[in-house]
Amino acid sequence: MPPAFKTSALSHHISRNPTLVQESQLMLPTSILFTPAFQRSPLVLRSHARAASQAFKSLAPASIPAHSARTCCSKAADSIAGRPLQSHKPSRSLHTTPIVSKDSEPPKMTTTLATILSRNDSWVSSYGPAHIEEFKANAQGQSPKVLWIGCSDSRVPEGVVCQTAPGELFVHRNIAGQFNPKDDSANSVLTYAVEALGVEQIVVVGHTSCGGVAASLQCAASKQDLPSAPLARYLTPLISLADKIRASPEAQGLSEAELVQLITERSVKQQMENIVESDVIKANWAGKKSAFPGEATKKVEVHGWVHNIATGKITDLGISILPPQ
Ligand SMILES: [Zn+2]
Repeated sequence: MPPAFKTSALSHHISRNPTLVQESQLMLPTSILFTPAFQRSPLVLRSHARAASQAFKSLAPASIPAHSARTCCSKAADSIAGRPLQSHKPSRSLHTTPIVSKDSEPPKMTTTLATILSRNDSWVSSYGPAHIEEFKANAQGQSPKVLWIGCSDSRVPEGVVCQTAPGELFVHRNIAGQFNPKDDSANSVLTYAVEALGVEQIVVVGHTSCGGVAASLQCAASKQDLPSAPLARYLTPLISLADKIRASPEAQGLSEAELVQLITERSVKQQMENIVESDVIKANWAGKKSAFPGEATKKVEVHGWVHNIATGKITDLGISILPPQ
């Protein structure tokens, strides 16, 4: 019987999702990416995203969206260096300090980017006055209860579809929402989220029409590599999973769309298992003291969701993995 999650933080997030769907507010701007707290200092891995996008487009032009990879956290450096987290200074605004010489013309902004910045101004004007104290608190530090691991797909913006406020979700998104055991980026996010921030729940979120899953299935079926070496290496575990599922008895007779959906759900489950097999979660569940705050943090739960892009609805798969009692 689904949902296994019981705590208020997760149920609060998922309960706001259908509310949002009903109110047809899915076209809200991507203002959540321009919040003044920790998300204003991300390292956007655009070169990786471009390579992935081109590779996907060459495989399935009609169904593969552009992807971007985003990771953060400027505070990790402070924490690793032993500096107090609460004394972290907000990073310099990228918008107000363009890097141009005095003699050169400032670079012209595209209409798309100008529109996004304009929407950010509107959001600050409308949202900010009523949340000024939250902004001030976020500038001093963060204490999210939930780590969201999902796909970089532009159609699954967690802050928008769950109506979360800045500071509520710690996020790691990559192609197809993978948590590969040897991925330093994903492991760094998990370590910081659990050991430094003390998140209490991790949610792995797959989605319908996932280009990463579709591309992996095509590679498995055609026995051909992706036209991008980094992407081929990165997706190797998912390609293997897709190959295994497509050959299984339960996959026989399924349409390609149904098979992609099945692989998506099994991938969510696989990432959850990878997470609980990590040293970070093993130590957390064993009650070991974290290297960051120097104390044991609350034992985390791991949950699996799927976001339906066609409806905006998020569904709990009911495959939660809870810490041993
Ligand atoms: Zn995806």
